[in-house]
Amino acid sequence: MPSSPPSQEHSVSAFVVPVEVMPRHVHVSPRHYVALFGVPAEMDETARTLSQRGQFVSNRTVEVIGSTGSLVTMRVLGPCRQDTQVELSLTDAAAIGLAPPVRLSGDMARSPGCVLRGPAGEVRLRRGVIVPAPHVHMNERDARRMGVGQGQRVRAVLADMRASVPVLAFVRVHPTFRLALHLTTDHAAEAWATTGDQAQIFVSKMPSTTRLK
Ligand SMILES: [Zn+2]
Repeated sequence: MPSSPPSQEHSVSAFVVPVEVMPRHVHVSPRHYVALFGVPAEMDETARTLSQRGQFVSNRTVEVIGSTGSLVTMRVLGPCRQDTQVELSLTDAAAIGLAPPVRLSGDMARSPGCVLRGPAGEVRLRRGVIVPAPHVHMNERDARRMGVGQGQRVRAVLADMRASVPVLAFVRVHPTFRLALHLTTDHAAEAWATTGDQAQIFVSKMPSTTRLK
């Protein structure tokens, strides 16, 4: 391959991003919440707030039942969402006989379902089980500073690990998002990452005519 002219054509910048490992969890719709717990979500308590504004760990858990087993204590994250979604690591999913696709949150097409069991009843999901793809939350100001856009893929490497295997992460931009690299427990294990670590993400600057929107 002919080599391209240096610098002007292609340069790479690195940005520091805090790592947050996200253990398996479930987002529940308002209707399913009542079916599982017998009360509206607004009546329940927050066990712990999360870094993303308005999001929290609920004091509620459900049992997630797959085809060959179940995860007995699955934490509910709040607030309620329009659609119920179960987010597992590949290891969690394999343990209960499910093979969900690796997806961004909200993309549940052709994903497997499962049964959720709460103290007040059960909900049978026809779809909604995914393995969340590694992703970087950021607001528009961060996105501008880094020169990245919604849905772009970036390489992330643990800041204090030389020769660590890079993780490919999707950029997610929203005004309320706080800068964080979210990994499942499996992705974190592969990178030997824990919450509070720093990652560097590498962004290739392409000529403006070919930059991804
Ligand atoms: Zn996230």
